[in-house]
Amino acid sequence: MDTDLFKNVISHAKEYGFIFQSSEIYDGLSAVYDYGQNGVLLKNNIKAYWWGAMVQMHENIVGIDSAIFMHPNTWKASGHVDAFNDPLIDNKDSKKRYRADVLIEDHVEKIRQKIEKEVKKASKRFGESFDREQFLATNGRVAGYQEKMKAIIDRFVKAMDAEDLADIKELIEDEQIKCPVSGSMNWTDVRQFNLMFGTQMGSVAEGASTLYLRPETAQGIFLNYLNVQKTGRMKIPFGIAQIGKAFRNEIVARQFIFRMREFEQMEMQFFVRPGTEMEWYENWKKKRLAWHKSLGFDESNYRFHDHKKLAHYAASATDIEFNFPFGFKELEGIHSRTDFDLKQHQEYSGKKLQYFDSELGENYVPYVVETSIGLDRMFLAVLSKSLMHETLEDGSQRTVLKLPAFLAPNKVAILPLLKKDGLPEKAREVTESLKLDHIVQYDEKDAIGKRYRRQDAAGTPLCVTVDHKTLEDNTVTVRFRDTMEQIRIPLSKLTAITNETVSLNAQFGKLSSFIDI
Ligand code: ATP
Repeated sequence: MDTDLFKNVISHAKEYGFIFQSSEIYDGLSAVYDYGQNGVLLKNNIKAYWWGAMVQMHENIVGIDSAIFMHPNTWKASGHVDAFNDPLIDNKDSKKRYRADVLIEDHVEKIRQKIEKEVKKASKRFGESFDREQFLATNGRVAGYQEKMKAIIDRFVKAMDAEDLADIKELIEDEQIKCPVSGSMNWTDVRQFNLMFGTQMGSVAEGASTLYLRPETAQGIFLNYLNVQKTGRMKIPFGIAQIGKAFRNEIVARQFIFRMREFEQMEMQFFVRPGTEMEWYENWKKKRLAWHKSLGFDESNYRFHDHKKLAHYAASATDIEFNFPFGFKELEGIHSRTDFDLKQHQEYSGKKLQYFDSELGENYVPYVVETSIGLDRMFLAVLSKSLMHETLEDGSQRTVLKLPAFLAPNKVAILPLLKKDGLPEKAREVTESLKLDHIVQYDEKDAIGKRYRRQDAAGTPLCVTVDHKTLEDNTVTVRFRDTMEQIRIPLSKLTAITNETVSLNAQFGKLSSFIDI
């Protein structure tokens, strides 16, 4: 875990108006965060990129925005009332609460890291001739670790499937998993804990009914499946996308915005002909990975992790994991949900949720492949990989947020060199014309070098400086954030250069080669 980087990300996010602790003046509310003036812009840009890649770039995907409150039967039908649980366990000495599955996963991860250590050692020893695959397949010590990992995972999956919570506790004891805080193995029994927040609609006197805050946005899509299919005259295969808030009463919510109790999801349910779901599942795995890679961060930051223990609705599931400052963790889930949800809603509502396939001449309940990404986790992924501290040629330091330019909160900063001689007026003029197309900042405070640094740290891709020469010949200096290169251009070219550097359209152009995978 890169503790320093993670601490830097959190303090940088606050210092530059990206993320604040919720209700800070009341000492904060645990695991709830607010997005500040720059954060909301970055978040909106991430949403726009996802929405564009899904809805704009695919003829057969449309979007909706369904309400957070839904009929209470929704959650009975979907299985969330009965099965949306996490196994929790407390350490009696530290009084800390943990998710039993996470304790076990972390333990398995430690064994995996031992394998990686062996690989590193061997690759040093063998040099160029090292063959990783061969080493993994033949080394005795590695085989032992792999066997151990498999045994733990198999036992865990079996116990979860059988809801044998006693065996999960025994597994934790057998593996001698200790509380990271107290270091002891003084554990309580494992209990199931439902993650949904309940609330009341209407006054109690009127016989209020219990509602749940949705724990996923997907159900809003399933309940509207027929409305959209009919009114949009959608033909299978087709998708419905949605971005919105979800709520989970997480047992342990920590790691900043990685795991919160109120968060945002970007989900897409893709409805397909039964029997074709695995093909589409593989297809969406590829497409989603391509979307992530198009941001330009190193490809080694991504990996797939197939689920062994499946959610109650899933037939196959994989995570796209990202290399966060605290290691590889789930960023996005891709699930083959079969016809489970639509069939359940059909049964509970008594309404047919079928599709007439004119090519086959038959009715069926479509199968579903889902892609589900946490917007806040995506935000954290982007922020943590973009934050850099550089030592410049003259030995000085700069902090720079090398965000993909199209995601940057502010695209251009307009800076009059001095606060006199008509320079502010000219700079204001430039600001007014550019703000028709982009989010632009005007800044006249402090020396120019300091202003550049401020914009670097906030991730602004371009700075435009207005000086005395500008008044004479209508040229300005444009400075690029990443290279710090400066060029002199006529003002008439400013819009074109800005568009070239920051536009979302250009990014879609790059992505379009991935869309038809
Ligand atoms: P985890 O195993 O980390 O709890 P999950 O498998 O329960 O996640 P899904 O139900 O697949 O997550 O939800 C889809 C996506 O929603 C996740 O990939 C993640 O990006 C995001 N997400 C889920 N729970 C949270 C949370 N508490 N805070 C922020 N994002 C979340």
